[in-house]
Amino acid sequence: MRIASGLRLLFPALLAALLVGCAQLPVMGQPPPAGALVLHFIDVGQGDSILVQSAGENYLIDGGRPEAGPKVVDFLRSRGVEQLDGVVATHPDADHIGGLADVLDSFPVETVYLSGESKGTTTFNEFLRAVRDSDARVERVREGYSMEWGRARADVIAPPPGELSEEPNDNSVAILLTFGPARALMAGDAEAAQERYMAEGPYAGPLTVLKVNHHGSNTSTTPLFLSRFRPQIAVIQVGENSYGHPTPQTLRRLKTVGARVFRNDLHGDITVTIKDGRVDVAVSKGG
Ligand SMILES: [Zn+2]
Repeated sequence: MRIASGLRLLFPALLAALLVGCAQLPVMGQPPPAGALVLHFIDVGQGDSILVQSAGENYLIDGGRPEAGPKVVDFLRSRGVEQLDGVVATHPDADHIGGLADVLDSFPVETVYLSGESKGTTTFNEFLRAVRDSDARVERVREGYSMEWGRARADVIAPPPGELSEEPNDNSVAILLTFGPARALMAGDAEAAQERYMAEGPYAGPLTVLKVNHHGSNTSTTPLFLSRFRPQIAVIQVGENSYGHPTPQTLRRLKTVGARVFRNDLHGDITVTIKDGRVDVAVSKGG
C-alpha cells in the first residue's frame, strides 16, 4: 500500500521521502533492523504501552493496566529486550502505569521519567514500590527536557515547567521523537488544553506517527491540534471500554486530515518501522 497522492500534496516536504507499507507481523519477534527506529504499540486492551527501539536501546512509554503487565513483559522479551534504557510514566492513571510494576520487577531499568504528579491509588503506590525496589534513577521531566534515544532525539514537549494543571490528563508527559525527516508524538491522555499548548508551541509540524491522545476520546484530537500536527499515521491505543472510545467524531476528524488509522482493538499489536526514509506498518491481526 502507498500513501494517497492527496497526502503528498498536503505535506510535500516531509512525505516525498516516506512510503507507507502494511504487512502482517512476523510470528515471533526479532531484534529490530539495524539503523531503524521501531515503535511497537502493544495491544494492552484499553490503555497505552509503546516500546521504542533504536540502535540497540529500548524505551517503554507506559505499561497498560495492572492486568496487562505480564503481556507487556512477554512482548518485550519477544522483541529481544533484556534491559530498558528508560521508562516513561506519562501520568498516574491505572491504564498507563498499572503494568509498569511488572516491567520494573522483570527488567533492569536505567531511568524512570515522570512529571511528578501523584495519585492516591493502590495502583500508583504499587508503581512507586516497584520504582523504589528497582535501581532506576528517577527523573522529573517537563517541556524543554531533551534526550537521545538511540539514533532518535526525544524531546519532552509538555507539560510546561512550573505548576501542573488541575486536570491530570493535561499533565501527560508528551514525547516527540525525531528521526531524520520522521517525527512521532506520544502524549498520553492529553486533552484539549494540553493539545492547544503543544499546537501553539515551537514543536508543531507534520507528524509521521501520532499516538492518538486519550484513546480517541472526543475531548482530544481537536481540529486545532490536527491542523498543526497533521499526522500521516494515527494509532489509537484502545480496547473494550465503556467510554465510547474511539468516538465517531475523533475518527471523522482523523479522516478529514487524511491520517491512516490503526487501532489495537482491530489490529492487535501495531509495529511502525522507520528506516531509510520509508515507513512500514505491521499488525498482528486484521491487516
Ligand atoms: Zn488513558
